Amino acid sequence: MYDVIVIGAGPAGCTAAKILAESGFRVLLAEKCKLPRYKSCSGQLIQKTLHLVEQYFGEATPYSVTCTPAENRGMIFTNDKGKEYRFEQPGLNVWRSSFDEWLAGKAKQSGAELQDETAALSCQEENDIVTVTFKGKSVTTEQARFILDCEGVVGALKRKLLNNAPKYITTFQTYNQGSIDLDYHYFYAYLQPDLSEYDAWFNVKDDHLVLGVSVKDASKIDYYYQNFIAYMKERHGLHIEKQIKTDKWLMPHILPGCKIDHGVGRVLFAGEIAGFLNPMGEGISAGMESGYLAAQAIMHHCDDLKAVYSDYKERIKSLHHYMKRQWSFVAGIANTFSEMKLN
Ligand SMILES: Cc1cc2nc3c(=O)[nH]c(=O)nc-3n(C[C@H](O)[C@H](O)[C@H](O)COP(=O)(O)OP(=O)(O)OC[C@H]3O[C@@H](n4cnc5c(N)ncnc54)[C@H](O)[C@@H]3O)c2cc1C
Repeated sequence: MYDVIVIGAGPAGCTAAKILAESGFRVLLAEKCKLPRYKSCSGQLIQKTLHLVEQYFGEATPYSVTCTPAENRGMIFTNDKGKEYRFEQPGLNVWRSSFDEWLAGKAKQSGAELQDETAALSCQEENDIVTVTFKGKSVTTEQARFILDCEGVVGALKRKLLNNAPKYITTFQTYNQGSIDLDYHYFYAYLQPDLSEYDAWFNVKDDHLVLGVSVKDASKIDYYYQNFIAYMKERHGLHIEKQIKTDKWLMPHILPGCKIDHGVGRVLFAGEIAGFLNPMGEGISAGMESGYLAAQAIMHHCDDLKAVYSDYKERIKSLHHYMKRQWSFVAGIANTFSEMKLN
């Protein structure tokens, strides 16, 4: 019997598990993949994320999780009219497999029990106890007073609980050997409507040129990707020698109001599964912060479920407001996101 079972060892789950375990809670951190697990990501840690790592994990992000160039100097946006906006801010360029494995290791050091290759299939609540069914080497059940669901974008467990069909953005990116006339230290986002249905991007990871597009309709990936490649060839002298790999993923489609799902009964949601994601797919900071705040709400009110929810809602107000302001800011730059503008 655990106090809290945390599902998913991403930034949200690892942060929550660490905070709860170091406060003396009996915590199981269950991850469906084998660690280190792959996560499609540009791996840009902005200043805010670096500060949160220091605040929650008590040390700076180690250099061992970075890729080349380790230093990210900021973001450069090109809006729907082709105008460029530069946002200079030092950050880090990491591999998510290494970064998240480091976070999970820290949660384990703080006393959380870490089980990878263990997928939560379903859960059932009875008499203030939740029973979770897991599939690992065999099918097992575990019980806890609370579940903190940090499953990330798809959220099989949450979909079963809410019986809903969330809206997604599909991302597609390629890793390539080649050359381009852009500064490898920046993350570039392109918001022109002929290049993607959301955003297109370029960044560098271990000397691979990463080029990606995101779409609302997955059948249009190839169309937009080819447009984007043609644009990068013409504008920035892109030359691809060899494509190394491709990956496809999902992101939550954030709609006006930036709706957050807090939880169902004794199952609380944090991170992307709760709806936290900032513009241009910056979600690590929001994942960590919401995981931390959900853990705080459980820690302070573990004998009073109603108080857990009201505290969690109160604690995430400023994070939620930050997210809405960020989306509204991008809407002010590019008409493609105009529906996200705050009144
Ligand atoms: C192409 C792309 C680029 C991005 N680039 C950036 C970037 O540069 N910077 C940034 O800040 N953000 C970026 N993001 C967003 C960022 O990756 C996410 O917002 C962030 O990872 C969310 O953290 P999380 O902990 O909520 O979920 P995740 O990191 O997705 O972690 C969830 C974990 O739960 C596990 N899991 C899922 N279901 C179960 C289950 N049933 N049982 C057990 N375990 C389960 C998963 O395997 C996973 O390990 C990007 C996203 C995409 C798609």
